Amino acid sequence: MRLLVVEDERRLADGLRRGLEAEGFAVDVASNGVDGLWLATEQSYAAILLDLMLPGKSGYVVCRELRAVDDWTPVLMLTAKDGVWDQVEALETGADDYLTKPFSFAVLVARVRALIRRGAGPRPSVLRVGDLALDPATREVRRSDTTIELTAREFAVLEYLMRRPGEVMSKAEILGGVWSFDFDGDPNIVEVYIGHLRRKVDRPFGHRSLETVRGAGYRVVDDGA
Ligand code: CA
Repeated sequence: MRLLVVEDERRLADGLRRGLEAEGFAVDVASNGVDGLWLATEQSYAAILLDLMLPGKSGYVVCRELRAVDDWTPVLMLTAKDGVWDQVEALETGADDYLTKPFSFAVLVARVRALIRRGAGPRPSVLRVGDLALDPATREVRRSDTTIELTAREFAVLEYLMRRPGEVMSKAEILGGVWSFDFDGDPNIVEVYIGHLRRKVDRPFGHRSLETVRGAGYRVVDDGA
């Protein structure tokens, strides 16, 4: 059985490879999110061990992009103890399970075997806020019966907000969730994308579902329009 390990800490990645091979697995290793995503989509794996904080693309983005192309390979997310991500957030990325570093190798192997037994998870349900619907699996966005074309990034921002309806998300949170963690451009890029989204999913339909909460961030609400 073949596993993919996506981990940029070389010592940890080497240790995982050796340990998992000793347990009878074949192991591929990628040291950044871009290579990890490429391998995950090119090869078939029994499970993927995915570090959350990665150069190139974060584990969050890798997992989301895999699910977006209907790849439901079980993902065990590896998160840092002092990270901003808690259990719920790790699972919200589309991961099936998570382990906080540092972890015991025996626990890791047990979790991996459990994930493989459980198999690929179900496709997620369509997200709905009022008559706005977003399907993470087919990448379709509809307002009532009208299909709306979004760019990949616009889709990601909208999905991020629609996974937390009514909840105010700061620019930093949206940046962390949608762009890679090492994004060092202008955080106002978030505002730009919210503007694009309003022009596509709200205004043509007379809605105001994408709200700016002054000094706090943005949220998507059912505005009842
Ligand atoms: Ca890392």
